Amino acid sequence: MSRIQVDLNDFHWMIEMIQTIDVGLVVLDQKYNIQTWNTFMEAHSGLRPDQTQGKNIFSLFPDLPETWLRNKVDAVFMLNNRAFTTWEQRPHVFKFRNYRPITGMADYMYQNITIIPLKSLNGEITHVSLIIYDVTDVAINKMQLEKANTELSQVSRTDGLTQLNNRRYWEERAQEEYNRNIRTKQPCSMVMFDIDHFKRINDNYGHLAGDQVIRQTAKLLKETMRNTDIAGRYGGEEFVVILIDTTQENAMTFCERIRRMIEQSVVKWENETIQYTISLGVSELNASFANHQQWLEHADNALYHSKENGRNQTTMAKKTEPSKEN
Ligand code: GH3
Ligand code: MG
Ligand code: MG
Repeated sequence: MSRIQVDLNDFHWMIEMIQTIDVGLVVLDQKYNIQTWNTFMEAHSGLRPDQTQGKNIFSLFPDLPETWLRNKVDAVFMLNNRAFTTWEQRPHVFKFRNYRPITGMADYMYQNITIIPLKSLNGEITHVSLIIYDVTDVAINKMQLEKANTELSQVSRTDGLTQLNNRRYWEERAQEEYNRNIRTKQPCSMVMFDIDHFKRINDNYGHLAGDQVIRQTAKLLKETMRNTDIAGRYGGEEFVVILIDTTQENAMTFCERIRRMIEQSVVKWENETIQYTISLGVSELNASFANHQQWLEHADNALYHSKENGRNQTTMAKKTEPSKEN
């Protein structure tokens, strides 16, 4: 067998492999005209090699992100370096339909693309090759995992009965707000409130009715506060809210509004209507507080005062003067 025949065999096999390999292969010249178009590309685009041969890729595929792809390919020509793009940067360069039966999550094939410079015999870079990988499975797995993780962390931060922040997560947020507002010296107030004689509600109407009262309280709270405020269920029938950018006086207005709303509301439970009240304590953040717990203690003491004083009322925590060093 002569040497030339061996090379031709190699060449033939190479072409066979390129044609049948399960990735897309496209060769472009410097004018973006297509020189090679393998079976993968044919199967997904519906265009045979003879329909793409010598054609400008942007004319054939007006959907291609032209500016972006030109930047990438021009850099490969210029620098004689490979380029790589992932589905996370750009989910699909070629808008090929996804036919995998896995889920309804992907209408189009997710793609990673490598662009490699091709040298001609005289060493000049005259062409580039695009290698297109179908990474739909990987992309969908990763997105599903991320979605599950987001849902999981959402659940771990949320109180099941009220959908407010649970105590643990609310405390984290309280600490953050303490740190932020101590630094920026913005006014910020904390409100703590507790349902009055809640034990009686449970005793008179049952635990499920009690749950409904807690739910209703959270609902009214959400309706009254701003989106940026941070509310949590601190205990059984005890709630906390951080009012961003709010002085103690303005927080007092907020407290009185929600107190009256609850006083006037009724919870319908089976054939009964339940009326109830809350007691509140409010404390504005102050540089004399060493940490967020002290801030919380002040709100709690004020709430205690409201209870002692007859319930269904708001108490402002006594303002402590910041120490001289601050
Ligand atoms: P006060 O006016 O002093 O606040 O009196 P109170 O009866 O509201 O206070 P206390 O703390 O003695 O009672 C709170 C009750 O709340 C006790 C507990 O059984 C009940 N509780 C705690 N968590 C829940 C819950 O998730 N659902 C229901 N229905 N009851 C709860
Ligand atoms: Mg109570
Ligand atoms: Mg209580």
